[in-house]
Amino acid sequence: MAKLSIVKVKLDREVNCYVVSDARSKEAVVIDPGMPAEKIAEQASGLTIKYILATHGHPGHVGGKDDLKSIAGGETGIHSADAKQFLRSADRYLIDGDELDFGEFKVEVLHTPGHTPGSVCFVIANHAFVGDTILAGGIGRQMPETDLRRQMISIQTKLLRLAPATALYPGHGPATSLEREWAQNPIFGGARARA
Ligand SMILES: [Zn+2]
Ligand SMILES: [Zn+2]
Repeated sequence: MAKLSIVKVKLDREVNCYVVSDARSKEAVVIDPGMPAEKIAEQASGLTIKYILATHGHPGHVGGKDDLKSIAGGETGIHSADAKQFLRSADRYLIDGDELDFGEFKVEVLHTPGHTPGSVCFVIANHAFVGDTILAGGIGRQMPETDLRRQMISIQTKLLRLAPATALYPGHGPATSLEREWAQNPIFGGARARA
């Protein structure tokens, strides 16, 4: 049976980067390549990085992608709306519904605009890497380009469709699960009252 390994790497600005790999083939994806890239490369040693993907274009989540690519290889990816918003380029511009293979697994791309126009979540098996769209007990820090209403719609229409037991790996702070956030996260207070 295919086995997934998930390693969290704490980067500058308290950003969580995740090195996700297929234990058998040693193929990996890196999610949120902040800085320093060397620290990510260290954690990924012995792995073949296929993709270097950013959940969104804020510098803490993407600033190390080109350095990491030159040290360790891999194809970089970001949603086109954030490439535009933050003037970033990448090897591949992600769109909703994309599927990227690594080892025996695949990354499904969900476009979840709101925190930024090009925020995405990455779903791998029953794990979701959610960037700043949702954190344990809250959401990512609002920035000038944040559209809170759009973010709530993304959460309701994209994330809440996933299985309740889905594990969530946010861009900051501890991991959690969809059912735990549904029960405890204040952002769902109003939605639950209406349900
Ligand atoms: Zn952010
Ligand atoms: Zn962030």
